[in-house]
Amino acid sequence: MGTPDSKRINVTSKRPTILLQTFGCQMNKLDSALVTSALKDAGFDLTGSVADADVVLINTCSVRDHAEQRVMSHLGNLKHIKETRPDLVVGVIGCMAQRLGSELFKQSAVDIVCGPAQIAEIPRLITEAMQGKKKAVAVTEKIRQLSGESEALESFESVYDADDKTIPGQAYVRVMHGCDKFCSYCIVPYVRGPEVSRPPGAIIEQIKRLAGEGVKLVTLLGQAVNAYKYTEGEKTYCLADLLTMAGDINGIEWIRFVTNYPSQKFFDEVLRAMADSPKVCRYLHIPAQSGSDKILAAMNRHYTAEEYLAMLDEARATVPDIEIAGDFIVGFPGETDDDFAATVRLVEKARYKNCFVFKYSPRPGTTADKKLEDNVPAEVKKKRNIELLAVQEKISDELGRRFLDKEVKVLVEGLSKKPHLDKSGNKNALQLVGRTAADWIVVFNGPESLAGQFATVKITKTSPLTLFGALVD
Ligand code: SAM
Ligand code: SF4
Repeated sequence: MGTPDSKRINVTSKRPTILLQTFGCQMNKLDSALVTSALKDAGFDLTGSVADADVVLINTCSVRDHAEQRVMSHLGNLKHIKETRPDLVVGVIGCMAQRLGSELFKQSAVDIVCGPAQIAEIPRLITEAMQGKKKAVAVTEKIRQLSGESEALESFESVYDADDKTIPGQAYVRVMHGCDKFCSYCIVPYVRGPEVSRPPGAIIEQIKRLAGEGVKLVTLLGQAVNAYKYTEGEKTYCLADLLTMAGDINGIEWIRFVTNYPSQKFFDEVLRAMADSPKVCRYLHIPAQSGSDKILAAMNRHYTAEEYLAMLDEARATVPDIEIAGDFIVGFPGETDDDFAATVRLVEKARYKNCFVFKYSPRPGTTADKKLEDNVPAEVKKKRNIELLAVQEKISDELGRRFLDKEVKVLVEGLSKKPHLDKSGNKNALQLVGRTAADWIVVFNGPESLAGQFATVKITKTSPLTLFGALVD
């Protein structure tokens, strides 16, 4: 949908060009897609290179220090570019903008700082910066208080779709903002604000529009997406209701949802919706973070390892073909060899399809940073990270082998970035990459025109992270 003409911004006779670079999670990718949509509508063109850009916007992540350091060094490079091109406008948006605010102006390249709740203001901020106005900062002052900003964000979100379709046939749809869980290590509640669920009507309308534009897979997004809750009159909607309603939309074939917080609330309902609707992908991303009850308590995660594993058993009993994925943090303050051994045991029992492992990174302002000493040495964190990934790799390898000689349905994403197959038999064939409903990555030879379409692939070779095969039809 478009912006009314009165809101269109006329910057110069030539459409100015913007390079938008995105760091971080799916939430950031979605924000970038919405911003792209709004910027195009406001009279800007997108470019892929700094050399062609009038404006560089960086959408940033604050979850780990490493992500912030990469942005800082990028801003250092942009400072040098601005020495020869002083008109270049540089904006920092996203979680780092909210966390650091005007402190980011210490990086002399920066002209605009804009938090996640202010993304609707980006076209105006850019226009003003291009007209030579002074540096501008738009962030939420009291991030944990609900304010009129969430209404402005809702109207922005319901007008603009993620229309850049980075991956053809797929789109993210946010069902809720923020997080109230306050895991002791995590910066998200402080940069994304409180949990606010979006109205179900707006979400379903958006999915219908996306279906009309050819989207086949929607991924519903929330930091703890299974905490979705919206009361309208007598009825309280939960994630399961959204899954059922989205499943009734013509054109939508697959529905995923990430990320789940391990909580019994609405869990049965969500599993039932998955079991009952063939469109809901049999995929559950449900991070455990640790297998040690002592560490889980210090992380302020409200479950024990046993309760967590019981949830996985329940998921597998209700949806037998479900695939489960997880996240872990290694080297959390006070994590001993025994605690880490408990995490290894949990991973062995959980039999994840895959899991992501992160080294603990203290985040300023979080409870863990204020109260606990980051006392696991860097080399121990690294060693545990490698070890846990190796344990998981073995499991992923075993699970992947089940697919050998079987046919799988994939949604094709496009050309594979890295050549994976032994191309000796078919040197000129293009390699495509797609994913199964349960998120297995599949690489095969086929025409690029299949991007955004479903295809059937017979698996001929497996590896822990990727399946390889041949197109069937
Ligand atoms: N809301 C989601 C959840 O609870 O799983 C995603 C939050 S975060 C963006 C993604 C992952 O980053 C988390 O699951 C956690 O494993 C990791 N993470 C968060 N804070 C971290 C920190 N301070 N250090 C290392 N990893 C962290
Ligand atoms: Fe962070 Fe925990 Fe919220 Fe996930 S659930 S965003 S880890 S506070």
